Amino acid sequence: MPVLDALSQKFETILRKLRGQGVLTEANIAEALKEVRLALLEADVNFKVVKDFIERVRVKAVGQEVLQSLTPGHQVVKIVWEELGEMMGKEQAGLKLASVPPTIIMMVGLQGAGKTTTCGKLARWFKNQGRRVLLVAADPRRPAAGDQLSNLGASLGVDVHRADRVDATQRDVVQICREGTERGRDKGYDVVILDTGGRLHIDDELMHELVAVKQAVLPQEVLLVADAMTGQDAVSMAGQFDQQVGLTGVILTKTEGDARGGAVLSIRAVTGKPIKFLGVGEKLDALELFHPDRMASRILG
Ligand code: GDP
Repeated sequence: MPVLDALSQKFETILRKLRGQGVLTEANIAEALKEVRLALLEADVNFKVVKDFIERVRVKAVGQEVLQSLTPGHQVVKIVWEELGEMMGKEQAGLKLASVPPTIIMMVGLQGAGKTTTCGKLARWFKNQGRRVLLVAADPRRPAAGDQLSNLGASLGVDVHRADRVDATQRDVVQICREGTERGRDKGYDVVILDTGGRLHIDDELMHELVAVKQAVLPQEVLLVADAMTGQDAVSMAGQFDQQVGLTGVILTKTEGDARGGAVLSIRAVTGKPIKFLGVGEKLDALELFHPDRMASRILG
């Protein structure tokens, strides 16, 4: 997985130097942290996140125990590892399930981010756990998106709820979502996944629609699907969706092509919302739970 490859390589060089030194001084640490800072900025990590990260590592690393320990270089590497995990959210965030099914998951995001595909991936993920899933096509303005979801459902053997095709574009999105969740409840589904409308840009109409859907169906999860390749744009978008609609988490797509990793590294620290899954390819099995600690280990090689 090339995600964060460049950063990983840079960290390896910087930290190898530190590890190799028997005695460390504040000056050695400051020098190494300058390089770490540059590497993070080149990876497109948010400026403020980098600043906070470096300061936290510095305070811990120049602590007495580290400088006086027998292996100060290793200790500093351990601190960097811990702080990278902290920055991305420490533990795997998981999905909140309803105490009484169905669990309702509302997927939001801009057109092209991979929302519909990710609905299919999540449906497959739940189905593999033996859960009954209902997908809801909730973007009547774009019949093609509904067709895409229907095809995904058919290939997975998962049911899809769609508004009546004849007057689909006239249908109210809130109404479609309400019907979908009611069908999920009445027919004993375990999980209902709502594929809400996408637009090319964030606009007030979209946000109002999403807020109305959220109020109507009271989902356990509101997940933003964002394209990791867009870097800091994905981060600021996550901030806007969170402020206006309220998110429970983020799924970053296309991470297998993202060599820099700015969004993966910054979203949690900037928005406070955890990354729950990573999309790692176009196929329906290309979805991974996001483990911040494992990601930190990958970065440190
Ligand atoms: P939507 O408009 O947000 O619903 O986006 P789609 O689900 O139609 O996806 C847009 C494009 O992104 C499609 O070509 C998908 O195959 C592709 N896509 C989605 N997720 C991933 C991913 O994790 N990796 C890659 N490489 N492509 C993805």
